[in-house]
Amino acid sequence: MPNAKASVLEQFNAPLRCTEFPLPDKLETGAALVRTEMAGICGTDVHLWKGQLPISLPIILGHETVGCIQQLAEGIERDWTGHPLKIGDRVTWTSTTSCGECYYCKVKRQPTRCPERRAYGIGQRCDHPPHLFGGYAEFHYLRPRSSPQFMASNGSASKVRQMPRLTNEQASCRFCHLCGVTAS
Ligand SMILES: [Zn+2]
Ligand SMILES: [Zn+2]
Repeated sequence: MPNAKASVLEQFNAPLRCTEFPLPDKLETGAALVRTEMAGICGTDVHLWKGQLPISLPIILGHETVGCIQQLAEGIERDWTGHPLKIGDRVTWTSTTSCGECYYCKVKRQPTRCPERRAYGIGQRCDHPPHLFGGYAEFHYLRPRSSPQFMASNGSASKVRQMPRLTNEQASCRFCHLCGVTAS
């Protein structure tokens, strides 16, 4: 099974450690595997690295990420705008996952207030499979309900209204705020 290199925060205020994790051999329904193209360094990452926020280690930092779809499981045929997804599409996604079942997810349609909300690169440890829950790695695992957002490649016509033809740089720094976009 091929491995993915990742920079792991094992200790606060210490250099990130280059580690290899096996890629998942099977994706759960609704999940996707993305090959990372770019991951932003947010101010929050600095606070996380310094141990100024209550997180559990080890983690792969990086919650502003753009990548190309490597594998798609069943149940994730379209992005959150309805655009069909396929292998190779460049996507970004919300920085958190939510349960999809609670009052805030189903009735209020405000998944950022879900009590089961978990943020990539912040609230998901990397010591259990499928490990790859942060942007500072060669691959990123998207859990079900990660709300991927298709982005057209440079130069091609985009059917997506909200994020037309963004560069990786432009898209990754919006990653942090996509929850607000999807909730609106
Ligand atoms: Zn951020
Ligand atoms: Zn919920």
